[in-house]
Amino acid sequence: MPQHHADSGALIPLITAGQTLVNKIDAPYARAMHIVPVLVAAVYGAVAGLLLPSAAYRLAVPAGQPRRTTCPEKHVLAGWRGPARCRSCAAHATGRRARDAPGVRTAAFAVTTGVLCGALAAAAPSAGAVAAVAVTPVLVLLGWIDHVVHRLPDVLTLPLAAAVAVLLGAGAAVSHNLGPFTRALLAGLVLSGAYFLIFLINPSGIGFGDVKLALPLGMLFGWHGWLFVALGAFAGQLLAALYGTVLVLSRHAGRSTRIALGPFMITGGFVGILLGSWA
Ligand SMILES: [Zn+2]
Repeated sequence: MPQHHADSGALIPLITAGQTLVNKIDAPYARAMHIVPVLVAAVYGAVAGLLLPSAAYRLAVPAGQPRRTTCPEKHVLAGWRGPARCRSCAAHATGRRARDAPGVRTAAFAVTTGVLCGALAAAAPSAGAVAAVAVTPVLVLLGWIDHVVHRLPDVLTLPLAAAVAVLLGAGAAVSHNLGPFTRALLAGLVLSGAYFLIFLINPSGIGFGDVKLALPLGMLFGWHGWLFVALGAFAGQLLAALYGTVLVLSRHAGRSTRIALGPFMITGGFVGILLGSWA
């Protein structure tokens, strides 16, 4: 036995040297491995962003009006995916490439979703971050539509809530840890309930679409912890208040002007989700 100890002792410097060498090779490898998911997520976001504008253009109609089926020049639109560009208009304007429908910039969608997805993937890997990356294109689409026509269509908010629940549930199943998932479901109900109370007290202040949007946002915050539910919700309200103040001060709006809350809930939501993912 003493002989064995002596051998181990002689081996320690060798093992230490070997470990140092492995670490030296490992560090760039580990860094490269960290860049891969960021790139994959950014490409996913950019491609999904390229697919959004057509749906954005078609869904951005005031409440009660049918979805758009034609371009501004009344040509029937071909599909729901891809840039909101009319081929018939392009064909009539000889020598011109098809242009984005007014206000629906394809490049802006692609860059926004690409950057957000990449930033989320740069955080610690978690089912919460994966779910957030997956649904980022829908959140961007919702934020844009609410900004333009002050509504959050049910056709997006309700499947979004279901998708977030399924993705987080799958994450919990894979990790054999129900804690974050249970907290996420509870947080979704609490945040949505809070917005519902505000809606009951002051229906002119927020829309019922905001109540429905709070459900998936609350779940995404809640996966990371109650602190991030508070931070995400607070960041959204703070941004909306700042924007409203700037509008009033710059005389672009009066005190009674209504601003859409959805884009701020979603922007604040990304602050909360990113803080939660990075913490
Ligand atoms: Zn057209």
